[in-house]
Amino acid sequence: MTIITQARSLQENLKKNHKNSSVGFVPTMGALHAGHKSLIELSKKENEITVVSIFINPTQFLAGEDFDKYPQKFESDKKICELCKVDYLFYPQIDTIYTKDEVLIKAPSYKGFILEGENRPGHFDGMLQIVLKLFNIVHPTNAYFGKKDAQQLILIKQMVKNLFLDINIVECDIIREANGLALSSRNSYLSSIEYTQALAISRSLERAAKAIANGQRDALAIQALIKDILTEAEISNIEYIQVVNRDFEPLTTIELKNTILLIAVKIGTTRLIDNFWL
Ligand code: AMP
Repeated sequence: MTIITQARSLQENLKKNHKNSSVGFVPTMGALHAGHKSLIELSKKENEITVVSIFINPTQFLAGEDFDKYPQKFESDKKICELCKVDYLFYPQIDTIYTKDEVLIKAPSYKGFILEGENRPGHFDGMLQIVLKLFNIVHPTNAYFGKKDAQQLILIKQMVKNLFLDINIVECDIIREANGLALSSRNSYLSSIEYTQALAISRSLERAAKAIANGQRDALAIQALIKDILTEAEISNIEYIQVVNRDFEPLTTIELKNTILLIAVKIGTTRLIDNFWL
């Protein structure tokens, strides 16, 4: 595995040595877990070359968010990438990626500013900015993103379409602990009491999925069911429980194969999201 810290150097390497190879790309912010690993493994299976990036992108964090304390585990991340036989690990410093007074990219005014975007205004501008930069550095054939960040995934697909990028976006399933909790680098912030509370998130999605399987189609009833389970677990800070289609339009009636159930809560100071795709 080659570790590269300079954007130009990665570009030159890929151009010179892998001109005719399929390139799979997995962008991450590090603190890698089995969720990231599943993306890397899929990329390895589907491409000749796999590039993983680790970059905690400052422009997608709002003032007061956890940018300064976001977990950094470069040595263990490196080991995971080596074991997965990643070809290139891109690990840039902030000043390699950003200059002052940049050309900016703006998330769409509806889809970029509801739900996650309403709670974290500007987050998706920064996310799209870094993903576009990374796409332009790596020029991947396929890029791998988790359904865990559903709105992010939908917006990246829209960016690819709107900007006519020649990149295939691969939607990857959510990897969970055996107890259902969706893996997230932020789970490490949870105390043991908070961790137990957090289990109610996936439990509520599971129950909702079961109710839908049994014929429930009323989105309001599903939202109420989820809210009851979260409240029972004493999760009081519910940011949203939403039922949308794949265009992120709110649904009143659940459409099979075109519905995403979305949850965002805060447990203590930790913000967690999870979702279920039908
Ligand atoms: P992050 O490092 O949190 O920016 O995540 C990097 C990529 O891994 C994103 O595409 C995430 O959606 C994906 N990811 C994070 N957690 C999971 C998970 N539990 N299952 C599948 N993919 C995930």
